Amino acid sequence: MAEIRVEHLRKAFGEFVAVQDSSFTVEDGEFLALLGPSGCGKTTTLRMIAGLELPTGGAIRLAGEDVTYKRASERDIAFVFQLFALYPHMNVRKNIGFPLLAQGVPKAEIKARVEETARLLQIDHILDRPVSGLAGGDRQRVALGRAIVRRPMCFLMDEPLGTLDAEFREVMVRELRELHNRIHATTVYVTHDQIEAMAMADKIAVMNHGVIEQFGTPQEIYDRPASMYVADFIGSPPMNFIRFSAGLPKGARAAHIGTAEVEMPELRRDVAPGELALGVRPEHVRFSDASPLRGAIYGSEYLGTNQIVTVEIEGGLVRARLPAEHSYAIGEPVGLTFKSERLSLFDAGSGRVIP
Ligand code: ATP
Repeated sequence: MAEIRVEHLRKAFGEFVAVQDSSFTVEDGEFLALLGPSGCGKTTTLRMIAGLELPTGGAIRLAGEDVTYKRASERDIAFVFQLFALYPHMNVRKNIGFPLLAQGVPKAEIKARVEETARLLQIDHILDRPVSGLAGGDRQRVALGRAIVRRPMCFLMDEPLGTLDAEFREVMVRELRELHNRIHATTVYVTHDQIEAMAMADKIAVMNHGVIEQFGTPQEIYDRPASMYVADFIGSPPMNFIRFSAGLPKGARAAHIGTAEVEMPELRRDVAPGELALGVRPEHVRFSDASPLRGAIYGSEYLGTNQIVTVEIEGGLVRARLPAEHSYAIGEPVGLTFKSERLSLFDAGSGRVIP
């Protein structure tokens, strides 16, 4: 059992509150991504779980044990930093085995565990090479090897792929996920990259100004964003917001955008008159000559397998992900339809979803 439970965690640096009332559970064997822009409190949250930062309030439990005020060395975790410093004068084998040597593990066992770890990471062929000549991806694998060789209860990773170039990152994202599928160690992974989080995590916590805006599976977060902030942060291009003012009764199944009536999922409560926003993902926008929601082509971006076409409607721009075959002329008039069951309705004032 290596569940991580965070309860009402808070961290203030003087007057500044970096993490506010955060509560979440990472189940045993689960991979959680803490996702958000720079400064939102991801690293501070991770450092508190690691025992590198003392919380101002709240509690942290590892496998049921309250570790809130325990030292980092008393917690059975491995922290993988972005710039994991390898020992440059040692070879790969010695680098991976070092944590075991420091723990006084017998030599024969170190050898066996280092070789098993290297096989797992597919670096067994470079075990006797010096680390100084290794490429970025291999260095990262050695760093990971050094973290997993100890078989800790859980892993904490802070942007471990931050310094790799785009091509390597993609490979490492796949490798990290495959490694997780093999060893099932409870993992908390900090990233500002939504694609990385979506590709790797079982659960994502989207953070904003020290607050967890939404906690859920990648699919829940993508399909049913709890706020305009989350909807905007996840997805590329992000969700479209079509703003309008209205009051809507419980049971309503359509919104009036200008003179067009747009179908949406049935409202489960009355919505007081105010500023609203209809949220629609680009892949749920289609063109239809018959639609009364009219616009004109504003631009397009060819992506090979598909294209992103931007349409100007009254009051804003809407992006549609469409098959790449057809090309559109700037200014060409089009009608828009949306996949009604995939729409979200937001209170544009608070930014919260209207459930
Ligand atoms: P980044 O990816 O840039 O590290 P982050 O989401 O991980 O962003 P944190 O590093 O957790 O953010 O920082 C959250 C906020 O807390 C930031 O505004 C940061 O300036 C502030 N902060 C972090 N550590 C300290 C500290 N020791 N003293 C004062 N303020 C701090």
